[in-house]
Amino acid sequence: MSTEARLREQICRCGASLFHRGLTFGSAGNISVRLPDGGWLMTPTNASLGELDPAKLSKLDTLGNLVSGEKPTKEAFLHRVMYSSRAKCEAVVHLHSTHSVAVSCLHGIDEHDCLPPLTAYYVMRVGKLPLVPYSPPGDESLALAVEKLATAHHAVLLANHGPVVSGSSLETALYAIEELEETAKLFLLLRGSQIRPLTSMQVKELQHRFPS
Ligand code: ZN
Repeated sequence: MSTEARLREQICRCGASLFHRGLTFGSAGNISVRLPDGGWLMTPTNASLGELDPAKLSKLDTLGNLVSGEKPTKEAFLHRVMYSSRAKCEAVVHLHSTHSVAVSCLHGIDEHDCLPPLTAYYVMRVGKLPLVPYSPPGDESLALAVEKLATAHHAVLLANHGPVVSGSSLETALYAIEELEETAKLFLLLRGSQIRPLTSMQVKELQHRFPS
């Protein structure tokens, strides 16, 4: 099987897995991967991640022009800014997953880092999570705001919208966005309780031991 055929299958398998576990719904959420020739595969506009067809995925050239398949997601620009800002980015996943979106709507959240370091795996897979100020979907200002943060962060949280996470592979990006969603769930479960996140020393030690 060619690399492209394998990546097409992987995108559809991951989309179905996210959909069937309730991490996405309706036609929300989108996935992309970089192809060996520098182009991309992307999920199409108005497609349910639960029912993707490998043959219908949008294939884009290195300039972002559609080569084959259906029209790409209207949120393709979120993916493009991640790839252009991060040299090692090989895949991007964007979800409207409930708990992450809930955190993105909270008043008074730390916009430089939306979630505390509750667990070691969150620190290792997500790290810092800045909040991107709200813009209407598709607005150019959203691309510019993500671009500003993407050089230093592989994961960002769009206010009142959801997370965008990049990775060195589709598997890495998925593990990170799932860790983010579960940590958002823990954070909401713990609201009102006195919490004991990892200390800055413990976070530094993890960063030293497991450099990203
Ligand atoms: Zn979205």
